[in-house]
This record gives sequence, C-alpha cells and structure tokens, in this order.
Amino acid sequence: MASLSSLTWYSRFIDETPGDSVVGGPPRQVEGACWSRVMPTPSPNPTLQLWSEEMANSLSISKGDLELLSGGEPCDGMDPYAQCYGGHQFGHWAHQLGDGRAITLGEVESDTGIVELQLKGAGLTPYSRTADGKAVLRSSIREFLCSEAMHHLGIPTTRALSLSTTGEEVMRDILYDGNRALEQGAIVCRVSPSFIRFGSFQIHAVNGDTATLRKLVEHTIINHFPEHQYSNDQQLLSWLAEIAKSTATMVSHWMRVGFVHGVMNTDNMSIHGLTIDYGPYGWIEDYNPNWTPNTTDLTHSRYRFANQPQIAGWNLARFLEAIAPLFDEPEQLSQILDVFFETLGQQQNSMWAGKLGFDSFSDEDVELVRELNTLLQLVETDMTIFFRILSEIEKPEINELKFAFYDEDTIPQQQWNNWLQKWWNRVEKRPNREKMKLANPKYVLRNWMAQLAIDDAEKGDFSLSIELFNLLKNPYSEQIEFQTKWFAKRPEWARNKVGCSMLSCSS
Ligand code: AMP
Ligand code: MG
Repeated sequence: MASLSSLTWYSRFIDETPGDSVVGGPPRQVEGACWSRVMPTPSPNPTLQLWSEEMANSLSISKGDLELLSGGEPCDGMDPYAQCYGGHQFGHWAHQLGDGRAITLGEVESDTGIVELQLKGAGLTPYSRTADGKAVLRSSIREFLCSEAMHHLGIPTTRALSLSTTGEEVMRDILYDGNRALEQGAIVCRVSPSFIRFGSFQIHAVNGDTATLRKLVEHTIINHFPEHQYSNDQQLLSWLAEIAKSTATMVSHWMRVGFVHGVMNTDNMSIHGLTIDYGPYGWIEDYNPNWTPNTTDLTHSRYRFANQPQIAGWNLARFLEAIAPLFDEPEQLSQILDVFFETLGQQQNSMWAGKLGFDSFSDEDVELVRELNTLLQLVETDMTIFFRILSEIEKPEINELKFAFYDEDTIPQQQWNNWLQKWWNRVEKRPNREKMKLANPKYVLRNWMAQLAIDDAEKGDFSLSIELFNLLKNPYSEQIEFQTKWFAKRPEWARNKVGCSMLSCSS
C-alpha cells in the first residue's frame, strides 16, 4: 500500500481555469478567478482520531500521513488552493463566499476515477471573510460520520477519509447568543470527484465575467462529464439535463431516509448531485414535515424537510440563470426545470413503491400515500421505526407498529387500522419485503446519536464515534446486537438539547 505522499497528484482545476495572481493573503474580494493558491495552517499537536478504511482502500493508501492530513507541509505534486464561489443564502444573493475554511490539496486516482482531497478546517484563506478558517470537533465528527453513513445508505455524497484533532482551541458561539466558549479544533479530509458547486458558476455570471464562466464550464464538462460537450446550446442542454436529474435523485433519497440538509444554499449544491457541506443537518425522528434542524432558519423554515425538493428546484433555476450567458437562446433553459420536476416525480414514485413494498407505483397509489402522510403527523411517530417495522408486519394492525409511537395511549387506532387494511389489500397481503427493507433503513445517524459520540469525543474517547461509524456501514442490516441501543426513538433528554433539536451554522 502506498502513502498519500507517494501518490501521483494532479491539479486539473488550477491548470485549466483562471486563478488569482496573489498567493494566500488576507480575506478579500477576488475577481476573475476560480481559485487562490493558499497554504494550509499546520496543527500544533495533531492526532489522527477517525479513519475510513473503505475510502483509504479506494485510494490504495494505508493509514498514516497525519502531517499532510492536519495542515502540514504539502508533499511534492500538491498545489493547494481555495476555490472562489458565490451563492444564494436563504434565498438572497450573498455574492462572494468561497472556501473560507476548506483547502484542496489536489487530485489523485481512486478506484472510482480521479478524486479531489480537501482539508476542512485547515486555516485562513482569501475567502474566510470575518471568520477563522478553523473547524471544531463537534461539526467535524458530524461531517465525518454522516458523509460516510450517507454513502453506505446508497445516497450520493462527498466522502471522508480522516478526522484529526489539531490540539488547538477555537472560540465559537454555538447558538449566536453571546455565549462564546473555547472548543477543540479538528480537520476532516474529505473526498469528492470535485467540490464544484452551483455557486462556483454563479459568481462569474453575476460579475459579468463570461470568459471565466466559459472556462469553468469547459473544465467541468471535459473532466467531470466527459460524455458531454460544450460547443452549442444543444450540447449544454444535454449536460444541464444530467445535473437536473442527479439533483432530483439526490433530494429524493433525502426524502426517503428523513434527512434534512439544513442549509440548502446554492453554494452548498454540488454540480455532481452529491450531498455536500454537512453543517446543521438533521434526521427527522417524529414525522414532522415542517421540521428544520437549523436554528438560523427557524423563522421561515425555508429548508424544512418537506420543502427540500422545491428548494433544490429553486437552486437549480439560479444555476441555470448563471449558465444562461453561454446560450444563444437562453429561453430553452426552462426545459431543464421540466426535466428536474419530471425526474423528481418519477423518483418519488419509485421511492414510495420501495417504502411501501409495491412492485411499481400507480396513479391510484397517490391517495394512499397522501393519507399515510396525514396519519403519520397526527401524533408523534418515529419515521425510521415506522417504515422499518412496516416492512416486517404479518398482520395489518397498528398494534404491530406501536413501538414507532412516542405515546402508545394516543395512537389513533381506528384510522391507522383502516389505512393498514387498504395498504394490505393493495399489496395483496404480500408486500415486497426485500424491497421495503432496502428502502427503509433500520439505522440512521439520529442527531442525539451523533451528540452522544461528540460528548465522549470531547472528553477524548472516540469509541462511540467508531461504534456508530461501524454500525452505519450496514444501515439496512438487522444488526440485532445493536437493536436495543440504536433502533430507538429520540430519548426525552434530546428533545430540546443543543446539537440534537437545535443546530446552527456555527462550526
Ligand atoms: P457553510 O454554511 O458551511 O456552507 O459556509 C458558508 C460560507 O462561510 C462558506 O464560504 C464557508 O467557507 C464560510 N465559513 C463557514 N465557517 C467558516 C470558518 N470557520 N472560517 C472561515 N469561513 C467559514
Ligand atoms: Mg458551504
């Protein structure tokens, strides 16, 4: 097995797109550039705490290289940089954002093609604005565990290779309420085909810099969408249709497993349709479509669970506007939104067919799903447990599912039994259980599970982080030995706890 430093490193992004002539430097506006060269900041006392063996195997490397993974001197072939991008945050154009606390080391071969390795939390870049470029342990654990868990759920996502603590403390105000405290710093090395986002294109379009926009589109298509071309409207439309489809597919997966991203700003939308930038995300536990984990978004709940498909469409529309300057006839771009919503419809139908054990979804099933959505909201009902047990029940009786309810005395028995009977008839007493179990995971990274792992890790004990990491490699398997502990509803202590029901962008 090789080490990171012995790999062949590529820098296609900086070789092929316009960059900043200044290296490093203080936070500032950067014009006409897709990136700025910047050196990671070394950690004073790094320790490797979490390591993804699967990711390492994919890169054909063995465990190690702590220095490189924690901000140390780059090795030969690396040419580290921070990417410039903009974005719409909570519906408003925020102009330049960029990699404020992420630094790309470079690209290497993996068993799925060339991938980019990026350190999150390795210090200041020209895009750090007023912040420090660092990341804290709690959010780094959340990113490491969740991105790997999403991968094992079969959901398109960026990955994580390592998490190291830096030995440095950083100041954070978790809820932005004036209560600042020192927290341990950490760095995650994350991995993706690229970290190009919708906002990477938007910034140049808004600046009226069509030349840079065009270069970035060409780079993206040549390297990441090699089956597409970029010379005319038709070719660009076919590329954009692929992005529309992958974005719709990603968000449908989120709806299937109850994942709420929490900050679906256009700078957090990957061009590859990957789940990216794990911040104040959460998993709905009681089935509340209006829930958002993000306290910054409580007033409007723009990024609430049920709104995610619409928001993905809205974000896609902003991305299409950014590409419009490259079109002779930009009116054609509206077709791409049609592709998005058609794909979303198909994906959601097949999602419901999977969750409910139908061989295929038909128009008559719409009403059954609508009724189910209403019933799930009548009293507090755990989404994950409900669908998992539904995959197993032998009789269409709500008693079989009572473990999914927070208060068994309040279960609307008659209404549920009516619905279950309709479902039972629909599946002719033989739901496709195998299909259901592959659509309805048994284990997901509930917020309180991550918080328990964080509480221990902050005291230096990473064993729970490792236990969850391993558990979530097989989210659809029974893993009976973990059932009592982790196939469980949210404990009462977690109901209103920071980190469980309340998260912010502070990380
Ligand atoms: P996010 O909410 O993670 O998508 O971040 C939004 C923007 O804020 C991005 O440009 C980030 O790079 C930047 N940002 C967030 N946290 C920090 C930090 N600690 N230091 C510098 N920039 C940050
Ligand atoms: Mg982001």
